[in-house]
This record gives sequence, C-alpha cells and structure tokens, in this order.
Amino acid sequence: MKKIFVGIDFGGTNVKIGLFDSDLKLLAKTSVETKADTGPESLIDRIGDATEKLLADNKLDRQAVQAVGMAAAGQFDLTAGIMISSPNMHSFKNVPLRKMLTDRIGKPAVIGNDANIACLGEFACGAGKDVEDMVFFTLGTGIGGGIVTNGTLVNGANDNAAELGHIIIYPDGRVCGCGQHGCAEAYASASSTAKRAAEAITAGAESSLESLLEEKSEITCKDVYEHLEAGDELAKKITDETAKVLALLCIDVLHGTDPQRIVFAGGMIAAGDILLDKIKEYFNKYIWSMKTETVEICFATLGEDAGLIGAAELARRSIVIPA
Ligand SMILES: [Zn+2]
Repeated sequence: MKKIFVGIDFGGTNVKIGLFDSDLKLLAKTSVETKADTGPESLIDRIGDATEKLLADNKLDRQAVQAVGMAAAGQFDLTAGIMISSPNMHSFKNVPLRKMLTDRIGKPAVIGNDANIACLGEFACGAGKDVEDMVFFTLGTGIGGGIVTNGTLVNGANDNAAELGHIIIYPDGRVCGCGQHGCAEAYASASSTAKRAAEAITAGAESSLESLLEEKSEITCKDVYEHLEAGDELAKKITDETAKVLALLCIDVLHGTDPQRIVFAGGMIAAGDILLDKIKEYFNKYIWSMKTETVEICFATLGEDAGLIGAAELARRSIVIPA
C-alpha cells in the first residue's frame, strides 16, 4: 500500500492541504478558508473534513496516511505540540494543535513554525536538496528564517531558533515590530523596503515613485523594483540598503553555522538578479579575508508551496518507516 503524508500550510487567509507520497511527490491538494474568528475547533474540524474529502476524491485509502505535518506562523512549544500565540489569529492562544489534529485525523501529527518549515521544504526538494547545511530567509512582511545543520532542522532550547530577521544590524537603528532597534527586518523585509522608500519621498527625496505614492497613499516593494528597473535613483538607493543588510545577515549566519547554501525566498525575490547580485557584491565586500568562503547565495525554487512540502517532510521525518 502506498504511504501517504499530509502537509498542511496554515495561513492567515487560507489553509492549504496536500497529500504526498513517501518521495514527497504531490498527489493532490486543496484549501479551506481560515476564518480565524471561528476558533481552533472549527478550523481543525474543517481541515479534517477537507482532508477526508481529498483522500476520497482521489480514491486514496485513509489508512495509508502515516502522519500529518502542519506549518503555521506563531510561537510554539514544539515538545508539547502547542501553538502559544499567532500573529494572524489573535484568538489562538495556547492551542494544543498537535493533539487536536491527531484526534481529528486519527494519525500522528507534528507542527512547526512556518518559516522553519518552508526552509525544510526547500531543503528536502528545492534549493537545498543537494546540501546538508543550509540557512533560509523568507522576505515578506517580516523576515522569517530557518537553519538546517547536518541535515537537521534547528529548533533551539526554547523552540525559537532561526528568528533571523531579528538579528541586530544597527543597534541604534529603526524600531522593529519586536521592540528592538535596528533589526534586519526593520530594513530589508519587503514591507520595510517599501516603507523606507515612502518615508524618503515624504521627506523630500525625488523619485518616479512619488506620483504613485500620492495616488495610492502607499507603495509596495514590487513598485520599488519596477522603478529600479526603469532607472529611478531613489529605488536604486533603497534596494542598495536592503541588499547591504541582507548581505550582513548572510555574513552573520555564515559565522554561526557555516552553511553550504544560503537561500532567499518570498515575494521579494521576484526582483531577480538585480537584487541577488547586489547581495553578493556586499557579501564579498564585508566578509572577512581570513579565508575564502565557499557558501553559495541563491533564491528558493519551490515558490508558495515550500511550506506545504515542508509540512509533509516534517510528517515524513516524524515517522520511522521500516525498510
Ligand atoms: Zn526585531
């Protein structure tokens, strides 16, 4: 009988559910609306219903399911299987997600932080599939992180490892959402990159983005990169600072775990080589000269499914499959 692993990516708007075989090949997927205000019980019940329907629709045997993995944004007690808090679902406090999933689906379940799990997905099947040591950054509203060392995802003593966006780059710098000053996230996330551009324009900087800011009252990171490609000087300056901060992050994590590969993910990588080349340029400028580093800096390859695939990999790793 084919073994099946269920991957669940619990987002603020939708919950994606995927069925995978033991080689992590996607067999089928679906999604349900999160509707966070209906509470954890309702959500887990709808996830259970959707998983059963997905199995039935694809003529897959429920008994073939070996384990379930779930990725979600938030803080966790991984040992106890509890979601302590969630930035998207404010009513989700100390929710025993692992037990609820196990009870509802009737199979062992595992949970984890979304950025960590997306890292695991890229490590298993994407940009890190041929290495053993990898560091991962996802650039979105904030900067999420993941670390794989000797093939193992690092959780840390308090399950808070790889909060890489909160590495302090400028101690007296911009205030971060976490309360610290000068975190990488306060400069180089997609949101912070757009915000810095808007602030500069408001402060009087000339830019082709100005009319867009007036029209929409906000600009996105995508806008910044589009104007960069069109030759806007402010967009160039803002991107330069973002790349510099990301390069410093790369150097900091390199000195921590000595990865073979550093992988960037998230919507911001759509900026392409113009961003990647700048990161590499600053990396080479600021890295020590004691020895030549062989780390490769690159972009993720799995796109939005990294979390779903990572959740299935988490499930697969939780089960010892007899040879
Ligand atoms: Zn921070």
